[in-house]
Amino acid sequence: MGLNLLYSNDRRGQYPDSWYAATAQALEPFAALRGEVRADVCVVGGGYTGLSAALHLAEAGLNVVLLEAHRVGFGASGRNGGQLGSGQRVAQDDLEGLTGAPEAAKLWQLGEDAKALVKSLIAKHGIDCDLKPGVAWTGSSPGDVAHLHDYAALLERRYDYGHMQVLDAEGCRALCPSPDYKGGIVDWDAAHLHPLNFALGLARAARDAGVRIYEGTQVHHVEERQPAVLRTDRGRVVADHVVLACNGYLGGLNRKVAARVMPINNFIAATAPLGDAASRVLTRDIAVADSRFVVNYFRLSADGRLLFGGGESYGYRFPKDIAAVVRKPMTQVFPHLADVPIDYAWGGTLAITMKRLPFLARVAPNILSASGYSGHGVGTATHAGQLMALAIRGEAEGFDTMSRLPTPAFPGGPAFRSPLLVLAMSWFAMRDRLGI
Ligand SMILES: Cc1cc2nc3c(=O)[nH]c(=O)nc-3n(C[C@H](O)[C@H](O)[C@H](O)COP(=O)(O)OP(=O)(O)OC[C@H]3O[C@@H](n4cnc5c(N)ncnc54)[C@H](O)[C@@H]3O)c2cc1C
Repeated sequence: MGLNLLYSNDRRGQYPDSWYAATAQALEPFAALRGEVRADVCVVGGGYTGLSAALHLAEAGLNVVLLEAHRVGFGASGRNGGQLGSGQRVAQDDLEGLTGAPEAAKLWQLGEDAKALVKSLIAKHGIDCDLKPGVAWTGSSPGDVAHLHDYAALLERRYDYGHMQVLDAEGCRALCPSPDYKGGIVDWDAAHLHPLNFALGLARAARDAGVRIYEGTQVHHVEERQPAVLRTDRGRVVADHVVLACNGYLGGLNRKVAARVMPINNFIAATAPLGDAASRVLTRDIAVADSRFVVNYFRLSADGRLLFGGGESYGYRFPKDIAAVVRKPMTQVFPHLADVPIDYAWGGTLAITMKRLPFLARVAPNILSASGYSGHGVGTATHAGQLMALAIRGEAEGFDTMSRLPTPAFPGGPAFRSPLLVLAMSWFAMRDRLGI
């Protein structure tokens, strides 16, 4: 099925040149698989989804093998904006419309469980990943700001969520002195973290719990039978259960998933350390996301750089000059940074679904898959891994609730997903620029 995103934009077996990789608590590489091994469960993919599934299964006493094409945390889990948000990617009022109020309430609770799970895994395994509280949502127009304020009120009224601080224009400027933002909200129970160090911490915990991790090991084919047989370059795994945790890098490994989950690219730049000028970006150590259709998101790194994310692309290849792509929205938000040096710029591939709700599914009697977190994966992917582990052990309630979410196929099927989306996204991005 065309190009494989596993190898389109990166060097084989290497993390990208990101600020995260430069400040990673690196793990010694795990050897590639050679020959045949047997397992209760074989997990494909070493991001949050796969590492969390493997860790929870091994802790429950199962014999687990995890296969990763590059390195653990190589994918979106090692490259993202680090924001651990509340609830689901889709706002609760929209979810109520989609699923009805009782189901939306369950989904809110699952989102809260996801956030709590990440915090508890960090605490339990002593993962050093700069976890800090506070994510602000800002609005660039009076309409955006009113919408955010209404949303904070709705969460308090209907979900008893009391962690939102409402910001008027002045309060917003005091926190984030950008001329682009006219007000917003801060979610003090949301948080931000060093995404690669969180993934590497999960990998250490999984290894210590007995998971056999193989890196540099791409799965080429999964034979759907009992037990399943997974083929790699130089080996095979025979396993009673399989967990597919490939997200944006799935390619054609499973057609049912590929029809519903679309890869897109997103980009981040890290400026040179800003020193005292950091307070012209943020006066507190929180993360920010704005209300643009192609969301801008940013925060300060531990060494005072601006980590700014924005810009998407829907082809397979990253643009040649990623720094220039990110500099554009960064300068719109912070005009005074037009000439600041950018020391690192990198891209990552994530996966979205038509309705921006994750796709969890039993794709064969003994094969589970979870992906398509649509930019809300730090919590949701980690949690989906735990829900799959529970489902394999016979406790499928949470997995079943998530797998009931409406996740229609993209029109045109896997082969046509990308060109259609380019058209749709350009249309929405244009509306966004025109402010309609
Ligand atoms: C730039 C960027 C910013 C983001 N910002 C945020 C944010 O601030 N907050 C948030 O919540 N979410 C964010 N996301 C989304 C979030 O990072 C993802 O939802 C999450 O990391 C998905 O985890 P995963 O384990 O499912 O996938 P990944 O981390 O992508 O892991 C999949 C792994 O599977 C491996 N793999 C794939 N196919 C095979 C195969 N055939 N054989 C072996 N291995 C295979 C890949 O090499 C990869 O390592 C962002 C994503 C990007 C790219």
